[in-house]
Amino acid sequence: MKSLHLKAGRDKSLKRRHPWIFTGAVERVDGEPARGETVLVKSAGQPVAVAAWSPQSQICARVWSFDCAVFIDEKFFRQKVSQAVALRASLPAFHHSNALRLVHGESDGLPGLIVDRYADVLVAQFLSAGAEFWREAILDALAAETGCEAIYERSDAEVRSLEGLPPRIGFARGNREAKRCPIVEYGLHYRVDVEAGQKTGFFLDQRENRQRVRALAAGREVLDAFCYTGGFSVAALAGGAARVTSVDSSASALEVAMENVNSNSFENSRITFQQADVFAYQRLLRDQGRSFGLVVLDPPKFAPTAAQAKNAARAYKDINLMAFRLLAPGGLLATFSCSGGVPAELFQSIVAGAAADAGVEAKIIERFGAAADHPVALQFPEGDYLKGLLLLRA
Ligand code: SAH
Repeated sequence: MKSLHLKAGRDKSLKRRHPWIFTGAVERVDGEPARGETVLVKSAGQPVAVAAWSPQSQICARVWSFDCAVFIDEKFFRQKVSQAVALRASLPAFHHSNALRLVHGESDGLPGLIVDRYADVLVAQFLSAGAEFWREAILDALAAETGCEAIYERSDAEVRSLEGLPPRIGFARGNREAKRCPIVEYGLHYRVDVEAGQKTGFFLDQRENRQRVRALAAGREVLDAFCYTGGFSVAALAGGAARVTSVDSSASALEVAMENVNSNSFENSRITFQQADVFAYQRLLRDQGRSFGLVVLDPPKFAPTAAQAKNAARAYKDINLMAFRLLAPGGLLATFSCSGGVPAELFQSIVAGAAADAGVEAKIIERFGAAADHPVALQFPEGDYLKGLLLLRA
Protein backbone atom coordinates (compact mmCIF):
# COMPACT_ATOMS: atom_id res chain seq x y z
CA MET A 1 0.00 0.00 0.00
CA LYS A 2 1.13 3.55 -0.63
CA SER A 3 2.27 5.23 2.53
CA LEU A 4 2.30 8.53 4.36
CA HIS A 5 5.16 9.14 6.77
CA LEU A 6 4.68 11.51 9.69
CA LYS A 7 7.42 13.83 10.88
CA ALA A 8 9.11 12.80 14.11
CA GLY A 9 6.96 13.60 17.16
CA ARG A 10 3.87 14.52 15.10
CA ASP A 11 1.74 11.53 16.00
CA LYS A 12 0.22 12.95 19.21
CA SER A 13 -3.26 13.71 17.91
CA LEU A 14 -3.40 10.37 16.07
CA LYS A 15 -2.50 8.62 19.33
CA ARG A 16 -5.57 10.27 20.85
CA ARG A 17 -7.44 8.87 17.84
CA HIS A 18 -8.24 12.21 16.28
CA PRO A 19 -8.92 11.36 12.61
CA TRP A 20 -7.27 14.34 10.86
CA ILE A 21 -3.70 14.65 9.58
CA PHE A 22 -2.55 18.14 8.63
CA THR A 23 0.02 18.83 5.88
CA GLY A 24 2.46 20.28 8.43
CA ALA A 25 2.78 16.89 10.15
CA VAL A 26 3.75 15.00 6.99
CA GLU A 27 7.36 14.19 6.17
CA ARG A 28 6.74 12.45 2.85
CA VAL A 29 4.25 10.41 0.86
CA ASP A 30 5.43 7.34 -1.05
CA GLY A 31 3.88 5.90 -4.20
CA GLU A 32 1.93 8.91 -5.55
CA PRO A 33 -1.55 8.00 -4.29
CA ALA A 34 -4.53 9.32 -6.26
CA ARG A 35 -6.99 11.73 -4.62
CA GLY A 36 -8.99 9.78 -2.05
CA GLU A 37 -6.89 6.62 -2.32
CA THR A 38 -6.18 4.68 0.86
CA VAL A 39 -2.70 5.13 2.36
CA LEU A 40 -0.95 3.46 5.28
CA VAL A 41 0.08 6.09 7.82
CA LYS A 42 3.45 5.45 9.46
CA SER A 43 5.12 7.07 12.42
CA ALA A 44 8.81 6.30 13.00
CA GLY A 45 8.42 3.53 10.43
CA GLN A 46 5.56 1.84 12.29
CA PRO A 47 2.01 1.66 10.85
CA VAL A 48 -0.46 3.66 12.97
CA ALA A 49 -3.57 4.10 10.79
CA VAL A 50 -5.15 3.67 7.37
CA ALA A 51 -6.43 6.92 5.87
CA ALA A 52 -7.77 8.61 2.75
CA TRP A 53 -5.28 10.84 0.94
CA SER A 54 -6.41 14.35 0.00
CA PRO A 55 -3.59 16.12 -1.85
CA GLN A 56 -5.19 19.56 -2.11
CA SER A 57 -6.53 20.01 1.40
CA GLN A 58 -4.78 21.32 4.51
CA ILE A 59 -6.29 18.22 6.10
CA CYS A 60 -4.30 15.98 3.78
CA ALA A 61 -5.51 12.68 5.20
CA ARG A 62 -8.53 11.48 7.18
CA VAL A 63 -8.35 8.21 9.07
CA TRP A 64 -10.66 5.35 8.14
CA SER A 65 -9.28 3.03 10.82
CA PHE A 66 -6.65 2.88 13.53
CA ASP A 67 -6.54 -0.89 13.05
CA CYS A 68 -3.98 -1.18 10.27
CA ALA A 69 -5.07 -4.73 9.49
CA VAL A 70 -8.50 -3.50 8.37
CA PHE A 71 -9.01 -3.64 4.62
CA ILE A 72 -10.77 -0.55 3.23
CA ASP A 73 -13.23 -1.94 0.70
CA GLU A 74 -16.97 -2.24 -0.03
CA LYS A 75 -17.41 -4.47 3.02
CA PHE A 76 -15.84 -1.86 5.29
CA PHE A 77 -18.37 0.78 4.17
CA ARG A 78 -21.28 -1.62 4.40
CA GLN A 79 -20.33 -2.35 8.00
CA LYS A 80 -19.84 1.31 8.97
CA VAL A 81 -23.15 2.33 7.42
CA SER A 82 -24.88 -0.59 9.08
CA GLN A 83 -23.53 0.47 12.51
CA ALA A 84 -24.61 4.07 11.96
CA VAL A 85 -28.11 3.05 10.89
CA ALA A 86 -28.43 0.65 13.86
CA LEU A 87 -27.44 3.41 16.29
CA ARG A 88 -30.28 5.62 15.02
CA ALA A 89 -32.78 2.78 15.28
CA SER A 90 -31.92 2.56 18.99
CA LEU A 91 -32.65 6.23 19.70
CA PRO A 92 -35.97 7.46 21.16
CA ALA A 93 -36.33 9.93 18.26
CA PHE A 94 -36.62 6.95 15.88
CA HIS A 95 -40.14 6.40 17.26
CA HIS A 96 -41.13 10.06 16.91
CA SER A 97 -39.87 11.01 13.48
CA ASN A 98 -39.23 9.54 10.04
CA ALA A 99 -36.46 12.10 9.49
CA LEU A 100 -33.10 11.41 11.12
CA ARG A 101 -29.42 12.01 10.48
CA LEU A 102 -28.08 8.56 9.62
CA VAL A 103 -24.40 9.38 9.16
CA HIS A 104 -22.64 12.21 10.97
CA GLY A 105 -19.19 12.19 9.37
CA GLU A 106 -16.15 11.69 11.56
CA SER A 107 -18.27 10.85 14.62
CA ASP A 108 -19.64 7.79 12.78
CA GLY A 109 -16.19 6.78 11.56
CA LEU A 110 -16.95 8.06 8.05
CA PRO A 111 -15.01 11.33 7.64
CA GLY A 112 -16.61 13.74 5.20
CA LEU A 113 -19.89 11.83 4.80
CA ILE A 114 -23.24 13.27 5.88
CA VAL A 115 -26.48 11.40 5.26
CA ASP A 116 -29.96 12.52 6.33
CA ARG A 117 -33.08 10.43 5.90
CA TYR A 118 -36.32 12.22 4.99
CA ALA A 119 -39.02 9.54 5.02
CA ASP A 120 -38.06 7.27 2.11
CA VAL A 121 -35.51 9.64 0.54
CA LEU A 122 -31.87 9.87 1.60
CA VAL A 123 -29.85 13.05 1.11
CA ALA A 124 -26.09 12.53 1.03
CA GLN A 125 -23.14 14.92 1.09
CA PHE A 126 -19.70 13.65 0.05
CA LEU A 127 -17.45 16.32 1.53
CA SER A 128 -13.98 14.75 1.56
CA ALA A 129 -11.70 13.20 -1.05
CA GLY A 130 -12.00 9.82 0.69
CA ALA A 131 -15.80 9.84 0.78
CA GLU A 132 -15.82 10.87 -2.91
CA PHE A 133 -13.40 8.07 -3.84
CA TRP A 134 -15.71 5.47 -2.28
CA ARG A 135 -18.94 7.14 -3.44
CA GLU A 136 -20.36 4.13 -5.34
CA ALA A 137 -19.60 1.72 -2.50
CA ILE A 138 -21.18 4.12 0.00
CA LEU A 139 -24.30 4.60 -2.16
CA ASP A 140 -24.65 0.81 -2.47
CA ALA A 141 -24.25 0.41 1.29
CA LEU A 142 -26.83 3.15 2.01
CA ALA A 143 -29.38 1.65 -0.35
CA ALA A 144 -28.86 -1.86 1.04
CA GLU A 145 -28.94 -0.86 4.72
CA THR A 146 -31.96 1.45 4.54
CA GLY A 147 -34.05 0.01 1.70
CA CYS A 148 -34.37 3.56 0.31
CA GLU A 149 -34.36 3.61 -3.46
CA ALA A 150 -33.99 7.36 -3.83
CA ILE A 151 -30.71 9.01 -2.81
CA TYR A 152 -30.37 12.71 -3.58
CA GLU A 153 -26.89 14.16 -3.57
CA ARG A 154 -26.20 17.61 -2.14
CA SER A 155 -22.43 17.71 -2.56
CA ASP A 156 -22.54 21.47 -3.01
CA ALA A 157 -21.11 22.55 0.35
CA GLU A 158 -18.23 24.97 0.08
CA VAL A 159 -15.83 22.68 1.94
CA ARG A 160 -15.71 20.46 -1.14
CA SER A 161 -13.64 23.07 -2.95
CA LEU A 162 -10.99 22.81 -0.20
CA GLU A 163 -10.68 19.15 -1.19
CA GLY A 164 -10.38 20.07 -4.87
CA LEU A 165 -13.80 18.60 -5.64
CA PRO A 166 -16.41 20.25 -7.90
CA PRO A 167 -20.03 20.54 -6.66
CA ARG A 168 -22.51 17.80 -7.57
CA ILE A 169 -26.30 17.95 -7.10
CA GLY A 170 -29.04 15.58 -8.19
CA PHE A 171 -30.41 12.10 -7.74
CA ALA A 172 -27.52 9.66 -7.35
CA ARG A 173 -29.94 6.74 -7.07
CA GLY A 174 -33.59 6.54 -8.07
CA ASN A 175 -35.49 9.51 -9.40
CA ARG A 176 -38.43 11.48 -8.20
CA GLU A 177 -40.54 14.31 -9.42
CA ALA A 178 -41.35 15.62 -5.98
CA LYS A 179 -38.26 17.05 -4.46
CA ARG A 180 -40.14 18.43 -1.46
CA CYS A 181 -40.26 15.43 0.86
CA PRO A 182 -43.02 15.33 3.46
CA ILE A 183 -41.76 14.29 6.88
CA VAL A 184 -43.30 13.94 10.34
CA GLU A 185 -41.62 15.02 13.56
CA TYR A 186 -43.39 14.54 16.89
CA GLY A 187 -46.70 14.55 15.04
CA LEU A 188 -45.96 17.77 13.14
CA HIS A 189 -45.74 17.84 9.36
CA TYR A 190 -42.93 19.51 7.44
CA ARG A 191 -41.89 19.60 3.81
CA VAL A 192 -38.19 19.36 3.09
CA ASP A 193 -36.84 20.96 -0.07
CA VAL A 194 -33.96 18.56 -0.69
CA GLU A 195 -33.08 20.18 -4.01
CA ALA A 196 -32.80 23.86 -3.13
CA GLY A 197 -32.99 23.96 0.67
CA GLN A 198 -30.08 24.81 2.95
CA LYS A 199 -27.58 21.99 3.60
CA THR A 200 -29.58 18.79 3.06
CA GLY A 201 -32.92 20.65 3.34
CA PHE A 202 -33.85 20.65 7.03
CA PHE A 203 -32.16 21.27 10.38
CA LEU A 204 -32.57 17.92 12.06
CA ASP A 205 -30.08 18.90 14.77
CA GLN A 206 -32.74 21.22 16.30
CA ARG A 207 -35.39 18.49 16.65
CA GLU A 208 -35.40 18.24 20.46
CA ASN A 209 -35.00 22.00 20.84
CA ARG A 210 -38.10 22.54 18.69
CA GLN A 211 -39.90 20.28 21.17
CA ARG A 212 -38.69 22.46 24.06
CA VAL A 213 -39.96 25.58 22.32
CA ARG A 214 -43.28 23.83 21.72
CA ALA A 215 -43.54 23.06 25.45
CA LEU A 216 -42.76 26.66 26.40
CA ALA A 217 -44.82 28.58 23.86
CA ALA A 218 -48.34 28.45 25.33
CA GLY A 219 -49.99 31.86 25.34
CA ARG A 220 -46.81 33.67 24.39
CA GLU A 221 -46.11 36.22 21.68
CA VAL A 222 -43.24 34.56 19.76
CA LEU A 223 -40.50 35.96 17.53
CA ASP A 224 -38.79 33.29 15.39
CA ALA A 225 -35.74 35.05 13.95
CA PHE A 226 -33.87 33.26 11.15
CA CYS A 227 -36.90 30.97 10.84
CA TYR A 228 -35.85 29.21 7.58
CA THR A 229 -38.73 26.82 6.76
CA GLY A 230 -40.48 27.52 10.04
CA GLY A 231 -39.27 24.65 12.22
CA PHE A 232 -39.55 26.59 15.48
CA SER A 233 -42.59 28.55 14.27
CA VAL A 234 -44.63 25.41 13.63
CA ALA A 235 -43.53 23.99 16.99
CA ALA A 236 -44.55 27.22 18.76
CA LEU A 237 -47.97 27.22 17.05
CA ALA A 238 -48.45 23.57 18.07
CA GLY A 239 -47.60 24.58 21.63
CA GLY A 240 -50.33 27.18 21.69
CA ALA A 241 -48.43 30.40 21.02
CA ALA A 242 -50.71 33.43 20.95
CA ARG A 243 -48.96 34.78 17.86
CA VAL A 244 -45.77 34.03 15.95
CA THR A 245 -43.71 36.47 13.90
CA SER A 246 -41.31 34.58 11.63
CA VAL A 247 -38.42 36.36 9.95
CA ASP A 248 -35.96 35.21 7.31
CA SER A 249 -34.12 36.82 4.42
CA SER A 250 -34.87 33.93 2.04
CA ALA A 251 -38.11 34.12 0.06
CA SER A 252 -37.93 30.45 -0.93
CA ALA A 253 -37.48 29.37 2.71
CA LEU A 254 -40.51 31.45 3.72
CA GLU A 255 -42.56 29.89 0.95
CA VAL A 256 -41.89 26.42 2.39
CA ALA A 257 -42.51 27.78 5.92
CA MET A 258 -46.01 28.85 4.84
CA GLU A 259 -46.63 25.39 3.37
CA ASN A 260 -45.53 23.90 6.67
CA VAL A 261 -47.98 26.02 8.65
CA ASN A 262 -50.77 25.02 6.27
CA SER A 263 -49.97 21.33 6.29
CA ASN A 264 -50.53 21.34 10.05
CA SER A 265 -53.84 23.16 9.63
CA PHE A 266 -52.92 26.03 11.95
CA GLU A 267 -54.92 29.23 11.57
CA ASN A 268 -52.97 31.65 9.40
CA SER A 269 -54.18 34.47 11.65
CA ARG A 270 -51.74 33.37 14.35
CA ILE A 271 -48.64 33.78 12.18
CA THR A 272 -46.94 36.59 10.27
CA PHE A 273 -44.10 35.94 7.86
CA GLN A 274 -41.61 38.67 7.18
CA GLN A 275 -38.90 38.62 4.54
CA ALA A 276 -36.26 40.85 6.08
CA ASP A 277 -32.74 41.14 7.41
CA VAL A 278 -33.00 40.21 11.09
CA PHE A 279 -30.44 42.84 12.15
CA ALA A 280 -32.57 45.63 10.67
CA TYR A 281 -35.94 44.07 11.46
CA GLN A 282 -35.22 43.75 15.19
CA ARG A 283 -34.57 47.51 15.24
CA LEU A 284 -37.81 48.15 13.41
CA LEU A 285 -39.72 46.05 15.95
CA ARG A 286 -38.07 47.99 18.76
CA ASP A 287 -39.00 51.31 17.11
CA GLN A 288 -42.57 50.03 16.86
CA GLY A 289 -42.51 49.32 20.60
CA ARG A 290 -43.15 45.60 20.12
CA SER A 291 -42.33 43.09 22.84
CA PHE A 292 -42.30 39.29 22.94
CA GLY A 293 -42.74 36.55 25.51
CA LEU A 294 -40.49 34.12 23.63
CA VAL A 295 -37.72 34.90 21.16
CA VAL A 296 -35.90 32.21 19.15
CA LEU A 297 -32.59 33.23 17.60
CA ASP A 298 -31.11 30.57 15.33
CA PRO A 299 -28.77 32.40 12.95
CA PRO A 300 -26.56 30.85 10.26
CA LYS A 301 -22.98 29.89 10.98
CA PHE A 302 -21.31 33.29 11.50
CA ALA A 303 -17.92 31.66 12.25
CA PRO A 304 -17.17 28.36 10.50
CA THR A 305 -13.65 28.43 12.01
CA ALA A 306 -11.94 30.16 14.93
CA ALA A 307 -10.40 32.66 12.49
CA GLN A 308 -13.80 34.34 12.00
CA ALA A 309 -14.69 34.30 15.72
CA LYS A 310 -14.12 38.02 16.27
CA ASN A 311 -16.52 39.27 13.60
CA ALA A 312 -18.96 36.54 14.53
CA ALA A 313 -18.88 37.67 18.16
CA ARG A 314 -19.99 41.14 17.07
CA ALA A 315 -22.90 39.71 15.07
CA TYR A 316 -24.00 37.37 17.89
CA LYS A 317 -23.82 40.22 20.37
CA ASP A 318 -25.88 42.51 18.19
CA ILE A 319 -28.79 40.11 17.60
CA ASN A 320 -28.84 38.98 21.23
CA LEU A 321 -28.74 42.54 22.54
CA MET A 322 -31.69 43.45 20.36
CA ALA A 323 -33.50 40.26 21.42
CA PHE A 324 -33.11 41.20 25.10
CA ARG A 325 -34.54 44.63 24.34
CA LEU A 326 -37.55 43.01 22.65
CA LEU A 327 -38.13 40.57 25.51
CA ALA A 328 -40.92 41.35 27.96
CA PRO A 329 -40.20 40.86 31.68
CA GLY A 330 -40.63 37.13 32.38
CA GLY A 331 -39.91 36.44 28.72
CA LEU A 332 -37.77 33.59 27.37
CA LEU A 333 -34.91 33.76 24.91
CA ALA A 334 -33.79 30.57 23.13
CA THR A 335 -30.52 31.59 21.52
CA PHE A 336 -28.28 29.37 19.40
CA SER A 337 -24.92 29.26 17.68
CA CYS A 338 -23.93 26.59 15.17
CA SER A 339 -20.47 28.12 14.64
CA GLY A 340 -17.67 25.62 15.12
CA GLY A 341 -15.36 28.59 15.67
CA VAL A 342 -17.33 29.86 18.68
CA PRO A 343 -17.05 27.49 21.66
CA ALA A 344 -19.87 27.26 24.23
CA GLU A 345 -18.06 29.32 26.90
CA LEU A 346 -17.35 32.12 24.44
CA PHE A 347 -20.97 32.08 23.24
CA GLN A 348 -22.22 32.32 26.81
CA SER A 349 -19.95 35.29 27.54
CA ILE A 350 -21.10 37.06 24.34
CA VAL A 351 -24.73 36.60 25.39
CA ALA A 352 -23.90 37.81 28.92
CA GLY A 353 -22.31 40.93 27.41
CA ALA A 354 -25.41 41.50 25.29
CA ALA A 355 -27.71 41.29 28.33
CA ALA A 356 -25.48 43.70 30.28
CA ASP A 357 -25.48 46.21 27.42
CA ALA A 358 -29.25 45.90 27.09
CA GLY A 359 -29.55 46.58 30.82
CA VAL A 360 -31.42 43.34 31.32
CA GLU A 361 -31.02 40.69 34.00
CA ALA A 362 -31.40 37.12 32.81
CA LYS A 363 -30.77 33.58 34.02
CA ILE A 364 -29.77 30.44 32.14
CA ILE A 365 -32.49 27.89 32.78
CA GLU A 366 -31.47 25.30 30.17
CA ARG A 367 -28.63 24.48 27.78
CA PHE A 368 -29.21 23.13 24.30
CA GLY A 369 -27.15 20.93 21.99
CA ALA A 370 -27.68 18.92 18.83
CA ALA A 371 -30.09 15.98 18.82
CA ALA A 372 -28.74 12.49 19.57
CA ASP A 373 -28.68 11.44 15.92
CA HIS A 374 -25.78 13.93 15.64
CA PRO A 375 -23.42 12.12 18.03
CA VAL A 376 -20.03 13.60 18.90
CA ALA A 377 -17.14 11.13 19.05
CA LEU A 378 -15.13 11.98 22.18
CA GLN A 379 -11.92 12.11 20.16
CA PHE A 380 -13.53 14.54 17.68
CA PRO A 381 -14.66 17.65 19.61
CA GLU A 382 -15.03 19.52 16.30
CA GLY A 383 -18.27 17.59 15.88
CA ASP A 384 -19.79 19.50 18.80
CA TYR A 385 -20.86 22.61 16.89
CA LEU A 386 -24.40 23.43 18.05
CA LYS A 387 -24.88 25.16 21.36
CA GLY A 388 -27.77 27.11 22.78
CA LEU A 389 -29.06 28.75 25.94
CA LEU A 390 -32.56 29.17 27.27
CA LEU A 391 -32.66 32.42 29.21
CA LEU A 392 -35.36 33.81 31.46
CA ARG A 393 -35.54 37.57 31.67
CA ALA A 394 -36.14 38.89 35.16
N1 SAH B 1 -34.19 28.01 12.67
C1 SAH B 1 -34.17 27.29 11.43
C2 SAH B 1 -32.77 27.21 10.82
C3 SAH B 1 -32.11 28.54 10.56
S1 SAH B 1 -30.85 28.48 9.36
C4 SAH B 1 -34.76 25.89 11.62
O1 SAH B 1 -34.89 25.43 12.77
O2 SAH B 1 -35.08 25.26 10.64
C5 SAH B 1 -30.43 30.14 9.15
C6 SAH B 1 -31.42 30.96 8.35
O3 SAH B 1 -31.00 32.31 8.45
C7 SAH B 1 -31.51 30.66 6.86
O4 SAH B 1 -32.84 30.36 6.54
C8 SAH B 1 -31.10 31.97 6.15
O5 SAH B 1 -31.88 32.26 5.02
C9 SAH B 1 -31.34 32.98 7.23
N2 SAH B 1 -30.54 34.21 7.22
C10 SAH B 1 -29.20 34.35 7.06
N3 SAH B 1 -28.83 35.63 7.26
C11 SAH B 1 -29.96 36.33 7.55
C12 SAH B 1 -30.24 37.69 7.87
N4 SAH B 1 -29.26 38.58 7.98
N5 SAH B 1 -31.52 38.03 8.12
C13 SAH B 1 -32.52 37.12 8.05
N6 SAH B 1 -32.31 35.82 7.76
C14 SAH B 1 -31.05 35.43 7.52
